[in-house]
This record gives sequence, C-alpha cells and structure tokens, in this order.
Amino acid sequence: MPETTTKNLSSLIKRIDALRDDLVALTQDLIRIPTLNPPGDCYRDICDYLDARLSAHGFETQLVRAIGAPGDSEKYPRWNIVARKEGRRPGECVHFNSHTDVVEVGAGWTFDPFGGEVSDGKIYGRGACDMKGGLAASIIAAEAFIQEFPDFAGAIEISGTADEESGGYGGVAYLAEKGFFAPERVQHVIIPEPLQKDRICLGHRGGWWAEIETFGEIAHGAMPFLGDCAVRHMGAVLDKFETDLFPAMAARTTDMPVVPEGARSSTMNINSIHGGQPEQAEDYTGLPAHCVPDSCRIMIDRRYLAEETHAGVSGEIEAILKDLETNRENFRFDIREVNHVAPSMTDKAAPVVSTVDRSITEILGKSPEYVASPGTYDQKHIDRIGKLKNCIAYGPGLLELAHKPDEYIGIDDMLDSAKVMAHSLAQLLLPTDND
Ligand SMILES: [Zn+2]
Repeated sequence: MPETTTKNLSSLIKRIDALRDDLVALTQDLIRIPTLNPPGDCYRDICDYLDARLSAHGFETQLVRAIGAPGDSEKYPRWNIVARKEGRRPGECVHFNSHTDVVEVGAGWTFDPFGGEVSDGKIYGRGACDMKGGLAASIIAAEAFIQEFPDFAGAIEISGTADEESGGYGGVAYLAEKGFFAPERVQHVIIPEPLQKDRICLGHRGGWWAEIETFGEIAHGAMPFLGDCAVRHMGAVLDKFETDLFPAMAARTTDMPVVPEGARSSTMNINSIHGGQPEQAEDYTGLPAHCVPDSCRIMIDRRYLAEETHAGVSGEIEAILKDLETNRENFRFDIREVNHVAPSMTDKAAPVVSTVDRSITEILGKSPEYVASPGTYDQKHIDRIGKLKNCIAYGPGLLELAHKPDEYIGIDDMLDSAKVMAHSLAQLLLPTDND
C-alpha cells in the first residue's frame, strides 16, 4: 500500500477507538428491540432502526419483505434491509450480512435479556453475541472506513436479515433468490456470526433431517401376539443404528476444520420418538388403555461432512431399513425427508479469506485459526442460491454463549473485530500502487 494509505490506516484504527461509546449505544439499541424468532417479532422495527442509522451515513436502503416465505404473515411479516454505499469509482462490493432475529430467552438469566446492560466491559442480552454485537461492529467498521476514505472504490453493503435461527428462508434465502447475492452485484461476503475475533470460519457441515415410521397392528395389550408392535420394530431399527450406523459414522473423518473436535466426524441425533397412544395432558388422572401400538415414529438429525453426499447419507439409512424389511418378519417402514442442507466450504485461497487473514495478523499480531461450523448458518443460501463462493463467517463473540442465559458480547472484542473488518475494507476497496 502507498505510504499515505498506511498513514491513514493508523488514523482509521484511532477513529474506531474513538467510536467506542457509539458502538456500545448501537449494540444496546439493537438488543432492546426484541426480535424473537419464533414467532418473528419486531422485524420491521429493527429494519426501520437500521434504515435511519445507515441512511444518515449515506447508504441507499431497501426494505424487502419475504412475502410468502415460511412464517411470513400480516401479523409477523418477514422484513429485511439491504443498505448500499457506492464508492466514487468502480470496484468490487463487500457485503456484511447479519441476521436480526434472536432465539427465545429461556430460564436462568440474572440480567434483563432485553436491557442491554453494561457490566465489566460486556454488554448483556439475548442476541448480544448471536449476533447483534457482530452487526454493530460491521456498521462501525463501515462508517469509520467511509469517513476516513470517502473516495474509496466499489461499494459496501450491510444487510440485516430475518429468520436465520429458523433456516433463513424468510431472510438470506429470499434475498438470494431475488438476486441480491448474485456474483455480478456482490463479490465478497462476511457474516459476523460469533466465531471469535481471531478465527475465520470457512463453512459448515451439511444436514439431513428425516422422519422414519414403523408400522404394526393394533390389538389388546393382554394378547400382544394377536397384533404387531410397531415400537419393537423401531427397537430393531435403533439396534441396527447402534451396532452398524453409529460406529461407521464415527470412523469417518474430514479435512474440514470443524470445531468442536467431536463434530469432525459424521454425527446423528435422534430428536424424538413417539409410539402408541399420544401422551395425555398433565392434569389427566386416568390410567392408560391396553393397546399394541400400530405406529412408531422417530425424527433424525444427521449432520454430514463435505466428503459425504446427500444420496450417500440417505441411502445408508434406507439400506438398513430395507435389510430389516428382508430379514425381519412383518417389518414395514416409511421414510420421509424433512429438510436438507448441503455442506458449504469456501476455498482457503479465496480472496475474502486471504484478506481477512492478513487483517487479523496485522491488527491482532497473530495468525488466525481456521474453523468450520458443526451446524449450518446463512452461508448455505449465499453458496447454493446466490452461487457466491467467496463467503466466510467472521465476527466477535464466543459461540458457546449463543442461545444461553446471560449471553454477552465483550466491548473490546467488538472493537477489535471492527478494526479487522475496516482493515479488510481498506485492502479490498482502496487503490494499490499499481493503479
Ligand atoms: Zn447466529
């Protein structure tokens, strides 16, 4: 970089330090808008807030409602905001995408979950780390960069999107379908999810959700031999999972740097099991009737690696069920896919990766750790629908605090991340010696 730019970079860093109070107030304001999902509360309120903030800093804004998306209704409209600031000459566009929704509060809080209270250098509240702190850091980074380098090239976009916590279909997926992440419009995407200020998250594992049902025949419980017990058939399925499937999955490893370490092989959770009579209400005092169950259902949550395929994952489970159909008397089953998300992994050589790597190294004085997420986030839609491969998650906060009571974000961590983001903007949107 030319010497003037280098000088301005230290001025940019000082400028961000001076914005500390603004960053705290912004984060508090965002936490105080209770954007609970479900059901999808206050989405319009937070978009209006961001609209006022970003318009005042010269961004062109668009409010986009995901009409017809899952969950969208007149009572709970799925509002999103996309703000864009054009530079003074042509160049690339860097987009910061944050989800605005937060999960339910849950029990165990000692702070007001929507109070945004500051204590000991931390701001507390539901969504503080996941991910209103990241959103606030990206806004401060962009605003400071624009003030320091008003003649930058290209464009900066900031989006606040709905429903990430419930799949992102009323948020990033909808925007991607409308072309907001098309490679001709956006070239670099940073998602400030709470992956820690010194880590770059390249992507996430895939997920396959399915319901399996086994069938039997209802009969009197005193004469079970006159019926056929669907729960015992499901027991045979679970037994096969224990003896064959789980050991096979555990033996698979991946090149994906998934954290925590336990998620570096294939995993499967059995979310629920239901067989026989439905459970009665808690105030029901009667005894159960005596029946052989004719149906048993389980819901499975299979997370898979970049080295596996959708067909391989579903086929492996179907093969176990078909084997039981052949070898177990009266075994009948049904399997129904509920949802599927492909794994996403950005190449370590992608420009946004090497840019943020260099910024972390320069700002924090250490090389970043590379990670991948065990669960999915909105990168899946930017990758599959938007066809944009140059996307990472990078932001302040500890993933372990997400969705927990007394969730917080460290103010210094937000400032450091904002510096890394602004430094990355400088690398991508300022002219180099060759220009
Ligand atoms: Zn999140």
